[in-house]
Amino acid sequence: MQKGLYHICLLGWLLCSCGGNGAYYTTEDFARVPKTDAHVHMYTADTTFVHQARQDNFRLLTIAVEEPPGMALQEQLGIAHHQHYPERVAFAGTLSIANWNNPHWPEATISHLDTMIRAGAIAIKFYKTIGMELKDEAGNFVMIDHPRFDTVLRFLTGKGIPVIGHFGEPKDCWLPLEQMQMNSNRKYYSRHPEFHMYAHPSYPSYHEQIAARDRMLQKHPQLRFIGAHLGSLEWDTDTLAACLDKFPNMAVDMAARISDLQFQAMKDRQKVYGFFIRYQDRLLYGTDRTAEDDGPTPQFIHEAWMRDWAFFTSKDTLRSPSFEGVFTGLQLPKTVVDKIYRYNAERWFKGRPQEQ
Ligand SMILES: [Zn+2]
Repeated sequence: MQKGLYHICLLGWLLCSCGGNGAYYTTEDFARVPKTDAHVHMYTADTTFVHQARQDNFRLLTIAVEEPPGMALQEQLGIAHHQHYPERVAFAGTLSIANWNNPHWPEATISHLDTMIRAGAIAIKFYKTIGMELKDEAGNFVMIDHPRFDTVLRFLTGKGIPVIGHFGEPKDCWLPLEQMQMNSNRKYYSRHPEFHMYAHPSYPSYHEQIAARDRMLQKHPQLRFIGAHLGSLEWDTDTLAACLDKFPNMAVDMAARISDLQFQAMKDRQKVYGFFIRYQDRLLYGTDRTAEDDGPTPQFIHEAWMRDWAFFTSKDTLRSPSFEGVFTGLQLPKTVVDKIYRYNAERWFKGRPQEQ
């Protein structure tokens, strides 16, 4: 009897330690586990979004971008939300390229970024308009490896402030609307033809965008760099893995690209699972959720966060609004979930450079 009891206990322990409920989070854990959404945009003084974040146990990083409703307003809103909810909302300032051709642009930019950092900005956003919109006085496109950015990048490196870099776009951007992989991209580029590169064949190509970003990173190896939207390498975890291997001071956020990971998981779940395990210190949860007047309801925000949680924590059969077909949740170990939802954001935005 004693021996049988011992075996039952041993079996129970084994199940618990390598696959039982103890190793994984469940739906019920969602509100209990502290989390960070490291890529949101708060375009309103309304605090509905912040209240939902509190209910769902999220901290938010709101990122200012040089696009409507205006960079200055977004930065002011970021500072204001941070001041009202210092434990709940952090903010990232943004680089302006409006006066790039002015000879005093570097000094004026550094002065502005310094003001933002003093106001509490934990990162600075660089936007895709570099490479897709910005031109020099001769009318040539300016890419991010242009030497004029170096002084600003050295300033941020010296301050220990990371850059959130959105360079290039998803590969879908270079395809006609009907050939795009993701419904979400089809919707976005229908509304923003100015950024739909298929319609602008004379603009720098996808590969030129990525190559310019990589040359900039080579020049600034000490810069802490967060590649927004899976570093625009959303289409293949192997390619993204090679990039992360090449640049140890680079991490990526998943904002608006979780569906690309799900699409790949539909074809080869083990490959995507392995990617998360191997790069568990370099991946940050983010959604690109935008809070604005007449924006999504708290219920919508909550449900979107829950869908992502199900993908990372369960092995349920799931669907995405972005593409046809089903995929199985990754069911990552708790330790990995805690990193992508919390500890990586804390370390990459506030902590030491990547430890190798
Ligand atoms: Zn964004």
